Amino acid sequence: MELLCIDFLNSDWRDWRGSGRREDRLLKPEWWERFCEQWGLEAQYPPDADTLSALQNLRAHMRAVVEAVAAERPPERKDLDALNRALEHALSHPRLAVTADGFRLEQVVFAKGWPDVIGRIAESFARLLAEEDLRRLKICDNDDCRWVFFDESRNRVRRWCDDKMCGNLLKVRRFRERQKAKGTSV
Ligand SMILES: [Zn+2]
Repeated sequence: MELLCIDFLNSDWRDWRGSGRREDRLLKPEWWERFCEQWGLEAQYPPDADTLSALQNLRAHMRAVVEAVAAERPPERKDLDALNRALEHALSHPRLAVTADGFRLEQVVFAKGWPDVIGRIAESFARLLAEEDLRRLKICDNDDCRWVFFDESRNRVRRWCDDKMCGNLLKVRRFRERQKAKGTSV
């Protein structure tokens, strides 16, 4: 399941190979272009300094909530407060539309732009927390990677991000660690 909020969370990219390299994709125009197009958002790039720091702060608070959920801890008050403040930016309201076989709720946006983008990100995340099975919200087991994903496997057995190389690297590393442990214990 692709989700706006998870896509946004992963804009804080870390090199899963373990080089320690990190890249903030919020600073990359091509990342924003793809992001806005995929999620139907409209905002003038680049964001000003205040907006950029609001986005980075929101992402840090969201990450803290995901870390808490993944560790089965309650999230911290300050992270929830920040999320609720961002939700106040959501300048939209639902509208009821008739379809061939019933009704559909549509979201009508008052104003496009950065406040709407922030509100939509926060809303996507709030809905995920409130409405989805949180046992499926996970962080890649590779400590160098920490990619956030939603595990849709039937028995919720996924432990790594989509990048097969990342999971393989970790398997090899753990195998070697086990071999080494065996070696020293003999
Ligand atoms: Zn990974």
